[in-house]
Amino acid sequence: MAPSHPPAAPCIFCEIVAGRAPAHKVYEDEDTLAFLDLFPITRGHVLVIPKRHVDRLTDLREDEYADLFRTLATICRRAERLSMDYNVAVNQGTLAGQIVFHLHFHVIPRYNTPSPFATTPRTRIGDEEAQRVRAALGDAPG
Ligand code: 5GP
Ligand code: ZN
Repeated sequence: MAPSHPPAAPCIFCEIVAGRAPAHKVYEDEDTLAFLDLFPITRGHVLVIPKRHVDRLTDLREDEYADLFRTLATICRRAERLSMDYNVAVNQGTLAGQIVFHLHFHVIPRYNTPSPFATTPRTRIGDEEAQRVRAALGDAPG
């Protein structure tokens, strides 16, 4: 079946990878990147991506699995500094809520907050709040 997605050029996450668009990065290595979601569902909402553009999880090569999963686990460990309860989610396809067609894992800390799968209004993160969250999720052991 053809993937369900709108045409996406340029891809905003590729622009972030290339350094042409800003992002509040919390982790980066050669193959993967993690940064704050611009419209966080909760405090500490992070997106984990492969640097190589693929639309979907099923487009990844098997030799890319380990690097991405390692970074996902790193971000989950850092999320545990904020809350031991969090959701890890991947939306695949328009009907599943995917809006950015560059594979990404959401890591969404939970604090007695409504389900991230419910439709609730979200506001753009401010720079000062982003710095505080980055400090909480940065390199330093927590
Ligand atoms: P999706 O619905 O595709 O799974 O999630 C895409 C996510 O990317 C959304 O949570 C949205 O807030 C976030 N997002 C969209 N554009 C940008 C952007 O330019 N920068 C960042 N950091 N996040 C973005
Ligand atoms: Zn991309």
